[in-house]
Amino acid sequence: MKTVSEADSSAESKLLDPKRQEVIDNRAKRGVTGERVEFKPPPDARAAAPGGADPHPGFSYHGGPVVASPRVFALFLGDWTSTANQARATRLIQYLTDLVGSTYMNILSQYGCGSSGTFIGSAFVANTNHNLREKDIHHILQSAINSNAIPEPTNHNNVYIVFLDDGTGVKDRGLKVVMCEAKSDNAFGYHNVFTTAANNPCNYAMIPGLSDLCLNETCKGSPTCSLNANETQEQRQTQVASHEFSEMISNPKGDAWFDDSDGEENGDLCNGLSGSITVNGRTWTVQRMYSKADDVSSNGNNICVLPPTHPIPPLVPNVARL
Ligand SMILES: [Zn+2]
Repeated sequence: MKTVSEADSSAESKLLDPKRQEVIDNRAKRGVTGERVEFKPPPDARAAAPGGADPHPGFSYHGGPVVASPRVFALFLGDWTSTANQARATRLIQYLTDLVGSTYMNILSQYGCGSSGTFIGSAFVANTNHNLREKDIHHILQSAINSNAIPEPTNHNNVYIVFLDDGTGVKDRGLKVVMCEAKSDNAFGYHNVFTTAANNPCNYAMIPGLSDLCLNETCKGSPTCSLNANETQEQRQTQVASHEFSEMISNPKGDAWFDDSDGEENGDLCNGLSGSITVNGRTWTVQRMYSKADDVSSNGNNICVLPPTHPIPPLVPNVARL
């Protein structure tokens, strides 16, 4: 199956500024753009003897900046007016608040992303375009910044998590992402960055509705699909959000933490492997996350972890900060 990591050669993106194009090409090569639909079981998900070990020696730091002290803002795009959607949005806000304050950050601390983050707010933003391209998304975010619906990322630790309503998909030729469209779906989420009019980096993750309709179109009943039909819509969204959040803060510009061999980011290496966290009595579905520290110490036998009690110390001193 085609993945979203393949190099881009679309006519549309050739119109971009060459430097920007280079960034996009590099990001595409590095697999920065999306959660794979296919589930590749990580080695510690199999009941495997040491023969099943699959260490990732190529996963390393490449010198680029990370988000060292994440500040998360949630944006609900489109029609969230129904009682059920309002309730889900409230739950997702609670989830993000809990996630960034939870021990989940103890995994991400090894990449220089700090050991706790902050939830800074949320907004509902109208949208009637149900087939979004990247440039539409940039326009929506910039307009929301201009109208003070969402904060300008003056603080470069700001990251935006965009939840789409069930009727909205993304189809972008440049990134080769198709999510929750009528056909040809190939991703469940992705993250990207653009520079705002005020010249700040706007890091954002796109999380589509992941309704049963979307899941059925995307997975077509495949047992290797990375999201489970038995999960609730909320569970699918929280699982994907943890994947994208982890990548967005550890590899915001595509030049920090990723695997040289295939461009995979920390979320990708454990794609489709769910777990849960419990914060103040609330239990949430998350994706288990790649831990380089555990990979090394276990010789590849324990790579996709749930949160340890204490923060894993940074693997590299003085990681660059966005
Ligand atoms: Zn990913």
